Amino acid sequence: MQHLIETTDLNDKGINDILRDAKRFKIQRPIALLRDRLLITLFFENSTRTRSSFEVAAKRLGASVVHLDPSKSSTNKGETIEDTFANLCAMEPDGVIIRHSQNETPGQLAKMEMTSVINAGAGSYAHPTQALLDLFTLQEHFGDVRGKTIAIVGDIISSRVASSGIRLFTRMGMNVLLVAPKPFMPPSELPQYETLEEVLDQVDAVMSLRAQLERHTSVIFDNYGEYSSHYCITPERLGSRDILILHPGPVMRNIDISDAVLDDPRCKVLDQVKNGVFTRMAILKHLLLDA
Ligand code: ASP
Repeated sequence: MQHLIETTDLNDKGINDILRDAKRFKIQRPIALLRDRLLITLFFENSTRTRSSFEVAAKRLGASVVHLDPSKSSTNKGETIEDTFANLCAMEPDGVIIRHSQNETPGQLAKMEMTSVINAGAGSYAHPTQALLDLFTLQEHFGDVRGKTIAIVGDIISSRVASSGIRLFTRMGMNVLLVAPKPFMPPSELPQYETLEEVLDQVDAVMSLRAQLERHTSVIFDNYGEYSSHYCITPERLGSRDILILHPGPVMRNIDISDAVLDDPRCKVLDQVKNGVFTRMAILKHLLLDA
């Protein structure tokens, strides 16, 4: 039984197979490889893109999807998450796709070895499918990403997207720079900068991040206008530089990225969403069929 809790669960061949299949699926919609398979989604945190992307990916491969809304589930009546999960597994799904605010939860459920567990975002620790779709988008643009430099900008310390991205991008031979005000900067051996201006001449890509207000235990900035004056990706900052702009969404317009940059061809936010479906199709195939 194969799980995906973090990209480190995949060997290099697994990652390359997923990227190759995602590319193939983008060129030609595959046949219903996962017909008769059933997936259950269990999202304890809000989601727009990830949940619908998994559902579209599963359905494009012919699988069925059942959503459990935890706010209406018995975890709200005091049932433990392990019991909720075990009950869902008794219905014999082929996999459970889970998002949770606790870093450890998907891994703990995977250890029960009852069904394949796919982490759709856990706390500030990992969001492996986002990292893979971001890598796919970078590869689609650059071809080989080895030696390319990406700056991750914003609330890095609270971001599972950054955390998974850093692990995967460095593993693929990319240089990763961190750009953030002090409260958003994690302890790290990677090069750290406080201003965007210091890095813009040396990067091939910028990944902007949203301030993860739901994970802050106290108010960090009273005024995100002030934050945006330093970290928002604007046409004035970018100039004519050939830099790819990524963001996992939801974008805080004019705080993370300006309206004008969101409309700029260098900005790949909607390509990331499109590629997310193909990447998740490839991930589901890898976990449920190939493994
Ligand atoms: N959608 C991403 C996540 O679930 C990023 C974000 O929420 O800012 O982590």
